[in-house]
Amino acid sequence: MGKKDNLIYLDSNSTTILSKDTTTIFVDMVMNGMFGNPSSSHLYGSKMRLIVDAARHSVASSLGCSASEIIFTSGGTEANNLALRGLYSEFSPPPNKIVSTEAEHSSVFYTIENLSAPEKIKYIPLNRDGSLDVSYLDHFLTEDVFMVSVMLANNETGVIFPVKEIAKKAHEKGILVHCDAVQAYGKIPIDVKDLDVDLLSISGHKVHALPGVGALYARRGLLLHPQITGGSQEGSLRAGTENYVGIASLGGSATDIRNTKGKLFSSELRDVFEVGLKNRLGNIIINGERAARVPNTSSITFKGIHSASMLTALEERNVLASAGSACSSGAMRPSRTLMAMGMDSEDAMSTVRFSFSKYSTIRDVGLAIKACVECVDLLGKNSLIPTID
Ligand code: PLP
Repeated sequence: MGKKDNLIYLDSNSTTILSKDTTTIFVDMVMNGMFGNPSSSHLYGSKMRLIVDAARHSVASSLGCSASEIIFTSGGTEANNLALRGLYSEFSPPPNKIVSTEAEHSSVFYTIENLSAPEKIKYIPLNRDGSLDVSYLDHFLTEDVFMVSVMLANNETGVIFPVKEIAKKAHEKGILVHCDAVQAYGKIPIDVKDLDVDLLSISGHKVHALPGVGALYARRGLLLHPQITGGSQEGSLRAGTENYVGIASLGGSATDIRNTKGKLFSSELRDVFEVGLKNRLGNIIINGERAARVPNTSSITFKGIHSASMLTALEERNVLASAGSACSSGAMRPSRTLMAMGMDSEDAMSTVRFSFSKYSTIRDVGLAIKACVECVDLLGKNSLIPTID
C-alpha cells in the first residue's frame, strides 16, 4: 500500500501519507529501540522528556502560543472532547446555551448533542456556498450563551468559517470560544492569539504525522476539567504516559508548518483539477467555489451519479477519494454539512470529496481528471461536454 502501488491518493482530509520526517522519527524511535517514559528520572526518561518538550515548543510556535498552553491528546476527537466536556464540567449547575454549526465534525456535533438539551443548542445556519450566515450572530450571542464552538475549516467543502469575527463578538459578551482547527492546521496560517480563541484543536494525521496524536490549545488561565484522570501528565489535564513517538512526529510536522508559514499545502493542484473538470464536464457543481476555502479540498457534485458508484468506478481507475455520506444500519445518509448548505439529498448523495496533500503531484491531477471524465461517461451519459479533438 502507499505510493508504490500507483494509486492516486486524493483523500488527505481523511488522513495523510506519513511525511519522510515522520517516517525517520518512527524508524529512529521504534525500530531502533529508542524508548523511555518521559516521567522517569533516569537517562532514558529524561531523553524522552526532552523530545516531548521540544515537540510541545514546536507545536506552540506553529500556533503562536506558549508551550504551557499545549495539551497533547490522542487526536482531534479527544482534543474536541476535552475542550467541550472540560468546559461543561467546570460549570455547575450545568451551563446555559451553546452556539455551534451543523457542519461540525461528529466529534464536536455529537459531543454537544450529548452534553446539551436540544433547546440549549443554537446552530448558525450555512449559506448555499458552504459559508456561515453570520447575520445570525448578534441574534444568537445572547447573555444566556456560555460557549461557541465553530470549526475553522470544514472537512467536506474546505470552506473557512470566520472564527476571528465570531470570537470578537462572543468575547464582547463574555462567551468562551472553542475552535476545531483540525482541517485548517497546515493549510492556512493560524495564530491563536490573533484569532482570539480560548481553545483550539488540531490532529497529527491530517498533517503528515502519525495517527493517534493531537493537541488542544487552552488559553492560559482557562479552567478546564480533565476528562482522563490519573497521573499528572499534561498539566494534570490528560493523564497517561505520553505517546512520545506520535508527539515527536507531530512536533516534526509543526516545524514544517511553521517553516511554511502555515501553508503546507498549495492551492495550485486543486485549481488545476477544478478547471480541468469544468472544461470537460457539464453537469457538475464545485461546492464552495466562490467561498474562502482551504487550498487542498475540492467538493464536487456529479449530478445524477451516486457517489458510491462514482467512488467505485474511480477506484477501478486507481483514484481514491471519499464521499461525505455516511452508512448507518446499511442505509446511506446524506452528509450533514451538505444538507445544512441547503443541498437536496439527491445532490448531496452525488458529491465526492477530493483532497490533496503536500505529496500530490500534477500527474496525479491529470490522471484524476481523466478518471473522472471516464466515470461520468460510464455512469451518467449526457454529462460530458463534447470536445473537438
Ligand atoms: N475535526 C475535524 C474537522 C476532522 O475532520 C476530524 C477528522 O476527520 C476530526 C476532528 C477528528 O480528528 P481525529 O481523527 O484525529 O480524531
